Amino acid sequence: MIPDILKIRKDFPILDQKVNGKPLIYFDNAATSQRPIKVIERINEFSLLINSNIHRATHFLANKTTEAYEASRETVRQFINAAEPAEVIFTHGTTESINLIAFSFGETFVSSGDEVIVTEMEHHANIVPWQMMCERRGGILKVLPFNDSGVLCLEILDTLITEKTKIIALAHVSNTLGTINPIKEIIEKAHQRNIPVLIDGAQGAPHLKIDVQALDCDFYAFSGHKIFGPTGIGVLYGKRKWLDKIPPFLGGGEMIDRVTFTKTTYNQLPYKFEAGTPNYVGAIGMASAIDYLNENGNQLFIDYEHELVTTATLQLKKIEGLKIYGEAPLKAGVVSFNIAGIHSFDLGILLDQLGIAVRTGRLCADPVMDHFGVENMVRASFAFYNTVEEIEIFYKALIRIKAMF
Ligand code: PMP
Repeated sequence: MIPDILKIRKDFPILDQKVNGKPLIYFDNAATSQRPIKVIERINEFSLLINSNIHRATHFLANKTTEAYEASRETVRQFINAAEPAEVIFTHGTTESINLIAFSFGETFVSSGDEVIVTEMEHHANIVPWQMMCERRGGILKVLPFNDSGVLCLEILDTLITEKTKIIALAHVSNTLGTINPIKEIIEKAHQRNIPVLIDGAQGAPHLKIDVQALDCDFYAFSGHKIFGPTGIGVLYGKRKWLDKIPPFLGGGEMIDRVTFTKTTYNQLPYKFEAGTPNYVGAIGMASAIDYLNENGNQLFIDYEHELVTTATLQLKKIEGLKIYGEAPLKAGVVSFNIAGIHSFDLGILLDQLGIAVRTGRLCADPVMDHFGVENMVRASFAFYNTVEEIEIFYKALIRIKAMF
């Protein structure tokens, strides 16, 4: 069964426009996805009628805002099936969520000679915070490689894990290769050695059903703007058993219990990790995006997006000289490629002339570029409002551009 795409597209007016005289084809969803009217209206309505700072007053509007903010936390809890709302921390996005854990976990659990494992296919947001932490704490960063199909070399993981391994951090879905990683298997393996696992879910949450309890992951991070919500809001899920043991990341208001000049005590979860005025408008908008997904049958979207990736892959493979990076059996959301003899930037600009938005460049994944020995890639990434017809137009556009070179 496929969703009623024409009806769905009406919920996303941004898609109904011309770019360079051609109907917009938006294939840059892995960078940021579009928001349904419902989300935009919710944010507007909230700003028009309710807005007030949360948690810090007794007046009507402050109470309303606090209620809406905490209801959003509950919506997120259900979306990922966390055991309790206190395990859902609002951040500015995946990047901040990972930095929070790299910092706070590192302060408590990593010391000189300890090891952290990431994979070769990580986004920079899941590499650099760990590197910074290792520099600070004297830790060692180890890397699990992937093979030329874009599949992690799991057989090597056993040799990488030692009694010094303190945490493993990896993507649920690669933002360049599209690979859906076998995170459950990795988490099980890590837990046999009592090693916690952080999942970068920036590309997982938009395309897969997330159940953090079934996965048994220790931390899961994702961003609002990639799940059809606003920018500047994201989530860090963490198991209470870890969050209770690690110190705050940022200091300031709301994260405190009592402040004196000699000592400050910290608030309970989740507030301990939410210093300062949070992006409550963003949280409310993100919850509205989750409501939209639930109302429209998230599973239907997930299956349909899978079909889009498969269709795009089959079509692109017909183009001579086109190389796809990442051919794992299980993929979600993205197809990255290059066409021999055409610079990816030229391809991006020419596609834009035809109204087609793709991403080009290093895709915040230098090690993936290095693996394949390329400088850049083109990435087409899909959402449930894209269509097979758009893929056909994209395919024909690539043929046309290729003929020009
Ligand atoms: N990890 C992955 C896999 C991503 O795709 C992205 C966004 N491109 C990030 C992390 C960072 O997300 P954000 O910029 O929303 O913090």
